[in-house]
Amino acid sequence: MSSSVVEKVRQLVGTARDGTVAVLGSGITGRAAAACFRRAKIPVTVFDEGKIPSSVTAELHAAGADTCAEFDAEKSPVLGKWSFALPSPGVDPKDTFARAFAERGIPFVAETDILAAYVAMPKVGVTGTNGKSTTTALIYEMLRRDRAGVELVGNIGRSFFELIDLDSPQKNGLLPVMIAELSSYQLEWATELTPDVGVWLNLSENHLERHGTLANYLAAKGKLFGRQGKGQWAVLNADDPLCQSMRENCAGEIAYFGVDLVSESGASIGLATGEITWRFDGMSKIFQTKDSALLGRHNLANIAAAIAAAKLAGASDLAVQSAINEFSPLEHRLERVGEFSGVLYLNDSKATTPAATATALLAIKDGGYLGKLRLLVGGQAKRAPWSDVAKLIEQDSMELVGFGADGARVISEIKSESCPVNAKTFTSLQDAVRYVRSVSQRDDIVLLSPGCASFDAYSGFEERGRDFKRLVIAE
Ligand code: ADP
Repeated sequence: MSSSVVEKVRQLVGTARDGTVAVLGSGITGRAAAACFRRAKIPVTVFDEGKIPSSVTAELHAAGADTCAEFDAEKSPVLGKWSFALPSPGVDPKDTFARAFAERGIPFVAETDILAAYVAMPKVGVTGTNGKSTTTALIYEMLRRDRAGVELVGNIGRSFFELIDLDSPQKNGLLPVMIAELSSYQLEWATELTPDVGVWLNLSENHLERHGTLANYLAAKGKLFGRQGKGQWAVLNADDPLCQSMRENCAGEIAYFGVDLVSESGASIGLATGEITWRFDGMSKIFQTKDSALLGRHNLANIAAAIAAAKLAGASDLAVQSAINEFSPLEHRLERVGEFSGVLYLNDSKATTPAATATALLAIKDGGYLGKLRLLVGGQAKRAPWSDVAKLIEQDSMELVGFGADGARVISEIKSESCPVNAKTFTSLQDAVRYVRSVSQRDDIVLLSPGCASFDAYSGFEERGRDFKRLVIAE
């Protein structure tokens, strides 16, 4: 991060000591931010659109918020007394909520800007449409085997704010390294963010509801690499044309990962052997993946990206290999629920896009199966095509089972891609599971990989995945 931005952020935090910070959003980020400002004795008001339930208000006060307020566009609460506004990633900059602050000239400071201004430890940042959590967790496992004090932050780790002490910005080198998963929502708010190693896994159409166009989405993701310098690395997917198209936006050095990579620096995947060769600085080292519990070629890409990032951040070969061997899939990502009467059940509830569903199907097909594969799809559909899923459907050995608000729509979209396949639709996941349990036989596989959001019936993919597991085990 450039020193001018660091200074600006620190100056704004300084002015907040005699003012108040407006935190936008009352969720996880809002709570963690309130606690961080409270530690530095900076007053905080947490705003949210709509009424904040009294239980949440109580939690916010306990965390450190001085005031909690419902944002009301009519009686605008934003009368210039705020030193700055700190938006939660879920707040859309285009919404009235955020615009009300912007229109009154109140500066925004993103959580990642505060992180960059106050936490000097080297940073590994992982972004991309799919595979972020898995790859971030794997890099963390690789790095923490060699040294103490490695921090996992972001969606799957501690909040950024837990590392931040506003009263004493860290000097370089205090902590070994921080690994963060970075969503495009976070990056959209970031003024700039410069990881020492930034990983860009892949890019497919997702979150267009928020970003509008693919170009905007690319721009949000591209922020990670635009200000890197010498000795700072972008790790890019050599097999993804959109990632490749962002090469010119990378200001630092570039390493790649990909299948049969020709590039000098990078992690090359041998699909037939499952070996990943890391070449760097004229040296090469082969890592084995045969003992990894991660399924499918997409996970080979995640492992290769993690190898590149961890090696560039200084991990030893031994640590990298043992993390690959011992890492278990994260919950809801092609997670093995169990085998019941010879039928294997897999929970991939995290697949909220058709692209993720196609990836899961490919992983199962790569591994091979003897019986029938029943794929559960549906929920709240996103604006993304199902053509890649349709291409992988095999009429004789698969059945589609739709559920939820858009289950029928998804199935008719897949079928309209001239894809004849047996299909059934149910109103709820519960009915769908009851059906698959009644018809599945030994050697069949049941895969929940819905390709849709879960909000038609659940609070999130986690609740949907847990419900699936409960239904499978209970029925
Ligand atoms: P994220 O944190 O980016 O959402 P996860 O690791 O949680 O990524 O995986 C989410 C979903 O995306 C999983 O259901 C998985 O099947 C799929 N996925 C994981 N890695 C990849 C990849 N490299 N390419 C395409 N899809 C992937």
